[in-house]
Amino acid sequence: MKSHFDVLVIGAGTAGIMVASQMKKRDVNLNIGIIDPANYHYYQPAWTLVGANTYDYEKTKRPMQAMIPAGVKWIKEFAEQFKPEENTVVTKEGNSYTYDYLAVAPGIQLAPELLEGLPEAMDTGMVCSNYTDPNHTWDVLQKFKGGVALFTQPTTPIKCGGAPQKIMYLADDYFRKAGKRDKSTVVFATPGTTIFGVPEIKKTLMEVVDRKDLNLRFGYNLVAVDSKEQIAWYEMADHEKEYNHKDIGIIEDGKRKGIRYDMMHLAPPQSSPDFIRNSPLANDGGWISVDKGTMQHTKYSNVFGLGDAAGLPTAKTGAAIRKQVPIVVENIFRLSASKGLSTKTYNGYSSCPLVTGYGKMVLAEFDYDNNFTPDPKLKQMLVFDSSKESWRLWMLKKYMLPYLYWNKMMKGQDV
Ligand SMILES: Cc1cc2nc3c(=O)[nH]c(=O)nc-3n(C[C@H](O)[C@H](O)[C@H](O)COP(=O)(O)OP(=O)(O)OC[C@H]3O[C@@H](n4cnc5c(N)ncnc54)[C@H](O)[C@@H]3O)c2cc1C
Repeated sequence: MKSHFDVLVIGAGTAGIMVASQMKKRDVNLNIGIIDPANYHYYQPAWTLVGANTYDYEKTKRPMQAMIPAGVKWIKEFAEQFKPEENTVVTKEGNSYTYDYLAVAPGIQLAPELLEGLPEAMDTGMVCSNYTDPNHTWDVLQKFKGGVALFTQPTTPIKCGGAPQKIMYLADDYFRKAGKRDKSTVVFATPGTTIFGVPEIKKTLMEVVDRKDLNLRFGYNLVAVDSKEQIAWYEMADHEKEYNHKDIGIIEDGKRKGIRYDMMHLAPPQSSPDFIRNSPLANDGGWISVDKGTMQHTKYSNVFGLGDAAGLPTAKTGAAIRKQVPIVVENIFRLSASKGLSTKTYNGYSSCPLVTGYGKMVLAEFDYDNNFTPDPKLKQMLVFDSSKESWRLWMLKKYMLPYLYWNKMMKGQDV
């Protein structure tokens, strides 16, 4: 089978649905196809709350059919091969689709196999991840009786870089409520150099760390998990340092250090999807090679890449996509009207809602240069300094953002 589309979209996640719905809203006659094999679409930002038992997983999930904008053709297939010289995408199912414009947004790929011992460790009932199964995180938190609660992350890029520490703050709160915090040491081990790259947010988070008495370990590159001995193995970076020392009996083995855990939450290693990495669209790192202001492909002018799979030097979040989509949509309309690209460009905006406990949140909003760029609209919610913990921001995370996502962003409204 062969079909032609004015605009073909790869991936019906946050970015793909937003592109298709904004384009259709602007021109109802546009012939748009969207390729995605998945049965369901997920609102992943709420998985942090699911892991701490304060949100229902079922509410983060909708049948894919219900997400596809009216008049857009859903092709329930797996895109496999790009032939950009022929304006063609070939699917695993053996069909070819041609396009005038292509928007590529297949997200990031979870790659647990990149960490030795991780696939086996996930089945032990002590190791969990909000990235794969947030309900299981809650089981593990409940089963934890005390000891070392380790929160960690890989050396690869990940989506929502703040998620590995958000669940730690919530878990600490839950351990206190459940009366097991004084029997436990809560440890955060990260390959990074700091708790957060934006100075205003870092200041607040370090106050949270002090209040919660958390042990921070920087320069910890996670290389293996020994699930039998319950040890996470790390190779040390030169910038290794510790904050708020706790004696957790670190195991030294040559260049490696091991942390013995009684429970562990981690983000699994992640990578660009294989079919992107092995395609003519990829840059050296395997991500879609795009201009960081326009999201136009660096070689193929009728191809755009956005969302987690795009090679953009900013944090991979849904919030970032909210600012990327209008630029991509505008540029496709302009090119199809034989006008040049818009002078309005993407500034790297991303945001990370850092929940710091039940009922508390800080909102990190920043650009390519890690400048703190709070949304002026927050004042309407009586939030005048979003770098400080606030109950109103928690309400935004738990109620308003999911509402805006399903009812506005996914419907093509610019919010
Ligand atoms: C635990 C967690 C917490 C998070 N918290 C936040 C937060 O608080 N705020 C925030 O803004 N973001 C957060 N995020 C990140 C946010 O969910 C992602 O950045 C966003 O969903 C990425 O959108 P995307 O469209 O690029 O990819 P996705 O939404 O992941 O969608 C990708 C789609 O592409 C499809 N696909 C994959 N391969 C193919 C193929 N070969 N052919 C066709 N289709 C394909 C998939 O089936 C999928 O439907 C969080 C994520 C996680 C996991």
